[in-house]
Amino acid sequence: MTDTTSARLTWVDTHGHLFLMDEPADVVLTRAQNAGVNWLVCPGVDTATTRASEAIALQYPGVVLWSAGLHPHDASNWDVEQEALSDLAKTADAVGECGLDYYRELSPRRDQKKAFGDQLELASALGKPVIVHCRDAFADVHDMVGRAELGADVILHCWTGGPKWTKRFAELGVTFSFAGPLTYTTAETLRLGAAEAPPERTMVETDSPYLTPEPLRGQNNEPANVYLTGKGLAGVWGVSVEDVSVSTTACAERVFRRA
Ligand SMILES: [Zn+2]
Repeated sequence: MTDTTSARLTWVDTHGHLFLMDEPADVVLTRAQNAGVNWLVCPGVDTATTRASEAIALQYPGVVLWSAGLHPHDASNWDVEQEALSDLAKTADAVGECGLDYYRELSPRRDQKKAFGDQLELASALGKPVIVHCRDAFADVHDMVGRAELGADVILHCWTGGPKWTKRFAELGVTFSFAGPLTYTTAETLRLGAAEAPPERTMVETDSPYLTPEPLRGQNNEPANVYLTGKGLAGVWGVSVEDVSVSTTACAERVFRRA
C-alpha cells in the first residue's frame, strides 16, 4: 500500500500531548489532517498541562478533545492537585492520564495507588472514559480496575502487555490503545499480546512527542504518524490497513464521543 492510499484512510490519535510539541498546534494539526487524522485526544498529566490541553481543545472544537488527570510520576502531588483536577474533569472529555508506573517509580507506590484509585472513582462518578498508564504494574492495575465499580470505559494507553495480560484485561472489558512500540523489531511479546486484543475494543495512538513508530524512530513523534501503528496492527491481525482504520476509528468514536 502506498502512502497516498494511507492518507485517504481516516484515523483517530487517542493520545497526543500537543502541549509538549516543538511546533505550534496549528502546524501539527494541519499535517495530522493531511495524514487522515480526523481528531485526537490531548491528555493532561497535571493541572497546568490539563489547562493547556483545554486551551488547545477550545481553539479546535471537534478536532482536539482533552482530558484532566495526574500522571503516576507526579502522584505524590495528588493532595495539592486533586481539587483543581476534579473540577476540570467536569468539563473535560475524559479523566487521565493516570495509573501506575513501577518501572520508573518516581512517586512511591502507595501514593500512585491513592491518586489512581481516586481518579478511577472520579471517572466513574462523572461517567467519563479514563485513560490509564500501566508500566510494569499489570497485576495492581488489573486488581484496581477489576475492583472498581466502573461506569466508564477504561482505556489502557500505550498497551505493552503480552498475551496473558491482554487476555486477562480483555475479560474486564477494557479498551486497548496501541502506540509506536508495536512496530519495534524487539517487541515480539507486545505483538503476541496485540493478537489477543479484540478489534472492536482496540484503538491507536502516538503518545506524541514520544515513541515514534518505525520507520521514523529517532525523530520526534507527531499525530500524523498514527497510521504507522495502524499498519503494524494490520500486520499482526492479518487484515487490511483499511479494516484497522475503520475499526479503530469506530472504537474511538464510541469510547470518547459515545457515537
Ligand atoms: Zn501520555
